[in-house]
Amino acid sequence: MKIIHTVAEMQAHSESLRNNGQTLAVVPTMGALHAGHLSLVKLAKSRADQVILSVFVNPLQFGANEDFDKYPRDIKNDEHLARQAGVDILFYPSRKELYPEHYHSYVCVDTLTEYFEGDIRPDHFKGVTTVVSKLFNITKPHVAVFGEKDAQQLAVIRKMTRDLNFDIDILAGSIVREKDGLAMSSRNVYLSKAARVEATILFKTIELVKSSLNNGFHDIEALLAQAKTNLKKAPLATVDYVQLVDAETFKPAQSLLQGKAYIFILAVKFGSTRLLDNLHFTM
Ligand code: AMP
Repeated sequence: MKIIHTVAEMQAHSESLRNNGQTLAVVPTMGALHAGHLSLVKLAKSRADQVILSVFVNPLQFGANEDFDKYPRDIKNDEHLARQAGVDILFYPSRKELYPEHYHSYVCVDTLTEYFEGDIRPDHFKGVTTVVSKLFNITKPHVAVFGEKDAQQLAVIRKMTRDLNFDIDILAGSIVREKDGLAMSSRNVYLSKAARVEATILFKTIELVKSSLNNGFHDIEALLAQAKTNLKKAPLATVDYVQLVDAETFKPAQSLLQGKAYIFILAVKFGSTRLLDNLHFTM
């Protein structure tokens, strides 16, 4: 596995691979790799000759009071896991390399970024779309792989890719979970023992909604009420939002139409740790 730290070397390497007829996939991450990230590498490998995994804890997407400083970092272990997963190139730039002094350019997607995560974390998506655009220009991929775990982020990136005509296929990997159903996340390590036990409430709520939908229960208000009642079983949890949205626009669904894609989304806080989970489904 080749390890690249600079923009210039990454661009030159991607250019030369493309000139040699190789197809490239990029998997952007913030490191602290887990099986969820590695499933995206596997998907990338099935779709391209060369897989580039980027590891960069992007300061732009963290708010002032968020966990940028304490975000878990373990590049040696990431290197080991990436190598084992068959990553061809690990792109691991420094902060200065991506945002040198006097850096002043940003990429924004309107509307879709105003609700839910965008509402709770102002400027978060501006940070995401800026760094992802930069990574697209630096790694020059044919394919980029993101997780359904961050459903709104995925929708924002798809929208940006379409709107700005990036000639890149966006692929989505399904959510990888712990044995007890908790969606894997680098932030799960922040959970106290008691919160970790209660954190399965997100998956349990998703399962409940899924089974109601499968039983033909399609009243949105009633589904959301059922979900909220279930979340009350976890006394340590504070609900940020629970909603059923249109998969493309992220606008709350008014009714469930045959053949249309929706996402049941939830964000729940345990202390200062926010957990996101969701269920993608098509009627
Ligand atoms: P992060 O390092 O948290 O920024 O995540 C990097 C990529 O991995 C994003 O596209 C996430 O959506 C994806 N991801 C994170 N957790 C999971 C998971 N449990 N299953 C699948 N993909 C995930």
